[in-house]
Amino acid sequence: MSDVHPPSGNLLQDRIILITGAGDGIGRAAALASAAQGARVILLGRTQEKMEAVYDAIDALPDAPEAVIHPLDLESATEDHYRELADAIGDQFGRLDGLLHNASLLGNLTPLQYFPADRWASIMQVNVNAAFQLTRALLPILNLAGDARILFTSSSVGRKGRAYWGAYAVSKFATEGLMQVLADELADTSNIRVNSINPGATRTTMRAAAYPAEDPGSLPTPEDLMPAYLYLLGPESRQLHGQALNIRDLL
Ligand code: NAP
Repeated sequence: MSDVHPPSGNLLQDRIILITGAGDGIGRAAALASAAQGARVILLGRTQEKMEAVYDAIDALPDAPEAVIHPLDLESATEDHYRELADAIGDQFGRLDGLLHNASLLGNLTPLQYFPADRWASIMQVNVNAAFQLTRALLPILNLAGDARILFTSSSVGRKGRAYWGAYAVSKFATEGLMQVLADELADTSNIRVNSINPGATRTTMRAAAYPAEDPGSLPTPEDLMPAYLYLLGPESRQLHGQALNIRDLL
């Protein structure tokens, strides 16, 4: 976690951007970087203290719009929760300009034969079903924005299966499918641009859980990736739609 202020600017000036899993890792960095570029960031996550810390860090940035905290556990959230969230954003801001689906559960790396079914269901719920439900609820206010972005977060194991990656890998394949179906539906009917992103190996808690023997110092930090995230959330990426992107290719 870096205490260095992200570069400030106006790339995302006046944009309203919701980030899931905004309390830690890549989501935290994306929240700070977006706010530093003028976005009003809605922080969605399940751990209140982490989001309060991100809120305070944004508050300390010069000229960043005040963030909004929206606590929600994506494993237990219901249709009512998603509708209330959409209504609250609609009432307060009248539109949503960006949705970064970033929250994910990794789970244990386990052969499929021994993968616990309840764990499988939890991972699919957080990584896939919640992204679908949240997207569905927010589409009307994303359409009101005129130039909105939806980014789904994938992984290299969501593009080529790998032994023992279980529900996480399968959920990322489903994430790619969700992105493709939505992008095709919206291609000629909406100004919303939809893509998936693979951040690549990044120095976070999730990466350390998957690769405990790896030296975290050998990996890029979430902050290192932010120029690509900002580009994809901002006006310059309009031509990208329905694509499975690698963040590293955009840096
Ligand atoms: P991370 O540090 O573990 O952060 C994940 C975030 O998701 C946390 O803020 C976590 O909240 C939140 N989250 C998990 N379950 C949730 C739930 N039920 N409800 C709400 N929020 C929940 O992971 P990361 O490495 O930054 O990963 C960010 C994204 O990049 C993920 O989609 C991941 O699959 C993808 N990715 C990462 C890497 C990598 O090397 N790091 C590589 C490829 C893809 P808490 O902090 O409260 O637990």
